[in-house]
Amino acid sequence: MNITLNNDFYFTILTIWIILALFTFFALLIIKPSSYGRHIDKNKLSVNNRLGWFIMELPTVILVPYFFLKGSLDYNLVTLSFISLYMIHYINRVFVFPLRIRTRAKRIPLLVVVSAIIFNVFNTYFIAYYFGNLSPHYDISWFYSPYFIIGFILFIVGAYINNQSDTILINLRKDAENGYKVPFGGLFKYVSCPNHLGEIIEWIGFAILSWSLPTFAFALWTIANLLPRAIQHHDWYHNHFEDYPKDRKAVFPYLL
Ligand code: NDP
Repeated sequence: MNITLNNDFYFTILTIWIILALFTFFALLIIKPSSYGRHIDKNKLSVNNRLGWFIMELPTVILVPYFFLKGSLDYNLVTLSFISLYMIHYINRVFVFPLRIRTRAKRIPLLVVVSAIIFNVFNTYFIAYYFGNLSPHYDISWFYSPYFIIGFILFIVGAYINNQSDTILINLRKDAENGYKVPFGGLFKYVSCPNHLGEIIEWIGFAILSWSLPTFAFALWTIANLLPRAIQHHDWYHNHFEDYPKDRKAVFPYLL
C-alpha cells in the first residue's frame, strides 16, 4: 500500500470518526446511559471496577509505541514531546488511577469495557499513526509558537484540575465505604464535575499544542463523552441531596 492510499484511507476513517463523535454526543445526551458509577444497572454483565479500568485503558500504552515508533517518518523532539504527553496521561490512567479509586466490590459493565477498548484502539491509532507517518515536519521552533505555548499551558492546567478533582472525589470515601457524598473544595465550588472539565481542557490544550486533525478529533470525543456524563452526574446530585449547592453548574463555571 503506498503512502497516498494510506493518506486517503486514514483521512476517510478519521472523518467518519469525527462524525461518529457528534452522533455519540447527541445520543448520550438523549439516552442518559446507566453504564457507569452511580448510574449503573446492576443486572448487566460486569467485571471488577479496578480491573475494568486497567483493561480498558491498557491498549493506549501498548499501541502508542507500536504505531508511532514503527512509523515511516523520522521522529524529532517535537513529535516525541506530543507522544510523551499522551503517554504520561495514560500511564497514570492505566497504572495509578485504578489503584487509587475506592470502589470496594464495585463492578463495571463488560459492554463499557469493550466499548472503551475499541475507542482507545482507534483513538491511539489516529494520533500515534499520524505523528509516525503522516504529519508535516515540526521544526524545533514549534516549541516557541503560540500554538505550543497556549496549548501546553491549557494541557497542564487541565491535567492539574482533573487530578485535583479526582483526588477530592476519591478521598470522600473511607476505605470500607461505597456511597456518595457532596464534594467540596477546588473547582467543586463552581461545578459538579471539575474532573471532567479538567479532562476537556487538557485535551483541547493537546489539540492546540499539536494543531492536528486527530488530536482535535480526540478533544471532540472527550467533550462528546464527558459533557453528557457531567450533566447526568449534576442532575443526579440534585435528585439525591436536598441541600446540594444551588449555584453550582454541571461542568462550565457560571454557564452550564
Ligand atoms: P467520576 O467523577 O464518576 O468518579 C471518579 C471516582 O470518584 C470514582 O471512583 C467514583 O466512584 C468516585 N466518586 C465520584 N463522585 C463521588 C461522590 N460524590 N462521592 C464519593 N465518591 C465519588 O468519574 P469517572 O469514573 O466517570 O471518570 C474517571 C476519570 O476518567 C475522570 O478523570 C474522567 O475525566 C476520566 N474519563 C475520561 C474520558 C475521556 O473521554 N477522555 C471518558 C471517561 C472518563 P464510583 O465509580 O463508585 O462512582
